[in-house]
Amino acid sequence: MASSSKKKGPVEKIALQCTECKRKNYTTEKNRRNTPDKLEFMKYCKFDHKHTLHRETKIK
Ligand SMILES: [Zn+2]
Repeated sequence: MASSSKKKGPVEKIALQCTECKRKNYTTEKNRRNTPDKLEFMKYCKFDHKHTLHRETKIK
């Protein structure tokens, strides 16, 4: 099916990777047009048992 939805823009699935243990703990979506910068969140890492900085990375 060819969809012609031009409203949403380039929504992209990304993973949030822990900067300490390098594990990809979360996945989310972002619109590259609205959010050109790399995302960074303080999130709980169950491997480190604490909140760490998680940075956007590619899912694959
Ligand atoms: Zn971690």
